[in-house]
Amino acid sequence: MLDRACKIVATLGPASESPDRIMLLMQTGVDCVRLNFSHGAHEDHKRRYEAVREAEARLGAPVAIIADMQGPKIRVGVFAEGAIQLRYGDVLGVEASEAPGDAQTIRLPHPDIVAALEEGDVLKFDDGKFQLTVVERTRAGVKARVDFGGVLKSQKGLNIPTRRLPVSALTAKDRDDLVYALALGVDFIALSFVQSAQDVKAARALIDGRAGVLAKIEKPAALDELEEIVALSDAIMVARGDLGVELAPEQVPIVQRRIIRTARAAGKPVIVATHMLESMIDAPTPTRAEASDVATAVYQGADAVMLSAESAVGRHPQTAVAIMDRIIAAVENDPDHWAGLARDSAHPEPTTADAISLSAREIADVLGCAAVVAYTSTGSTALRLARERPRCGVIGMTPHESTARRLCLAWGVKSIVAEDATSTEDMVEKAEVVVRKLGAAKTDDRVVITAGVPFGRAGKTNMIRILRLE
Ligand code: PGA
Ligand code: MN
Repeated sequence: MLDRACKIVATLGPASESPDRIMLLMQTGVDCVRLNFSHGAHEDHKRRYEAVREAEARLGAPVAIIADMQGPKIRVGVFAEGAIQLRYGDVLGVEASEAPGDAQTIRLPHPDIVAALEEGDVLKFDDGKFQLTVVERTRAGVKARVDFGGVLKSQKGLNIPTRRLPVSALTAKDRDDLVYALALGVDFIALSFVQSAQDVKAARALIDGRAGVLAKIEKPAALDELEEIVALSDAIMVARGDLGVELAPEQVPIVQRRIIRTARAAGKPVIVATHMLESMIDAPTPTRAEASDVATAVYQGADAVMLSAESAVGRHPQTAVAIMDRIIAAVENDPDHWAGLARDSAHPEPTTADAISLSAREIADVLGCAAVVAYTSTGSTALRLARERPRCGVIGMTPHESTARRLCLAWGVKSIVAEDATSTEDMVEKAEVVVRKLGAAKTDDRVVITAGVPFGRAGKTNMIRILRLE
């Protein structure tokens, strides 16, 4: 039996970057860390990367590292005075220019975007705190009226939810960051502001198998091609921060549920991210609503829940991880959770791998097995098994460290690097050593093993074996 099925992702930042802190976070329950390339220099990410790998080696369990690209985040330019006052009803110019803006004109260093704006487009500044609506095009750009205002400071973010932006998901900075992150050896590259399946395709070609591709769903345009985006990605993030600016708040829970269902049906790990324990940036305990939010993601069968500012810059990174761990454990102790997961389970596809996965889960249920052990080379078999959400969890045995690490993001999968089996006997022996080592099963417990014959070839899972530990 595994201790926890839903995984925890923690974003590293100034509050969580010392090697001791990172070690503590991992001991407290972090399965996967996120390096946020929107902030910090390359050297900061390198230092954090190395500290995580060192802790990984000391703890003897793999951990996945996600390099999160900033993506085409649009920002306003600087204001000559540092900030301007936006008042309800005022009409301002919005122009493309590198020059500083002033009280009458907001300047954006993004000519393509200003050129694409039309009457009726909505401009949301600083995480949606201030909003303007475009009222007319002018020679220099557009005029826009303030719907709700306040003090807009230099270089704050801008979201234009009404537009599919004429930009690719990888900017020049992202390409540079991507090369750096791949050289470090990260396990996933997260793409921000994906708008189309084509965005994922292009990134996939560039990454070329050196890391998994994680698509962040934070633009309404991405929802139009959600199924294709999920099919082309190795993992998905419900990026509620920007999604919540681009969509009305009441739409975010609906969309969260839809993204989780789509990813689960495809057997792709899905992370629920942003604001999960937001108040813990300062406070040592979460609000009731936050506890409920984390629990909801777990009930929905998300593969992972994520900490952002809570662990990157908050006052209580370790407590936040501990609380997340406790909320997940509480839900997973609720028998109703398992009934819900079974009810929402996607149908198997007509493939050998899915037939084996369904059968392995049923065998494990009927016999009350302590684990399902999968010999998996690419990780695909372990993911198809995890898609069945077996109560005892999945142990992924793989000869590849990169596979073991990527599997850290997947629901219920505990991965371990182990040599391929060479014979049926060897397969049983190695599986027994692993389950005992992981404390997943003891004498008299039964485990289900899946593997492929002939041994040592990828994509060949075709066998189930039931083992009773003696
Ligand atoms: P970010 O992505 O933290 O990189 O903005 C997550 C989100 O938008 O929710
Ligand atoms: Mn975002």
